[in-house]
Amino acid sequence: MENLKKYIGEINDFPKEGIVFKDINPIYKEPKIWNQLMLPLQNLISSTKPDYIAGIESRGFISASALAFKLDIGFIPIRKPNKLPGEVIGLNYKLEYGEDRLEIQKNSFKQKSKIILIDDLLATGGTAGTAGNLIREAGGKLIGYAFLVELTELNGRKNLDSNLIIESIIKY
Ligand code: AMP
Repeated sequence: MENLKKYIGEINDFPKEGIVFKDINPIYKEPKIWNQLMLPLQNLISSTKPDYIAGIESRGFISASALAFKLDIGFIPIRKPNKLPGEVIGLNYKLEYGEDRLEIQKNSFKQKSKIILIDDLLATGGTAGTAGNLIREAGGKLIGYAFLVELTELNGRKNLDSNLIIESIIKY
């Protein structure tokens, strides 16, 4: 997958100073390239047979919902605060500076449903770790996490459950 790196832009100091933002958007404009990147995730999902694919707002929705639609599997959105209607379960988590929060709709799936979590990129792992905990709090059986891109030097895997599947396709 090294050949796909040329389709990923790098923007310095976005969204804030010190961050080198990996811009995956050029890949989404090239269906053949996007397909190449998604194929290993499709295979992973086809072999692990989750009941649902959960995606994290907002960049995670792009690939998670595309995979769910393609593979005929239900999609569960994990969202930023105050976006989901009805009863929700939420968890706060620490960012480098400050705090954030993710929410999931209560009773939105059958208890113990097998769920795989998809996000675009694994950095420190705070977001995916929290989203995974949220799925469990809502009664789901989390089976793993999958990412298009992983920034390995940030060791985000330490914030994920190492007993589960942790897959990333392009590693920096
Ligand atoms: P983290 O919680 O640190 O693992 O951050 C993961 C989330 O933040 C993902 O949903 C990414 O969309 C976004 N993110 C964090 N760092 C970057 C980066 N360097 N480039 C692009 N997106 C990033």
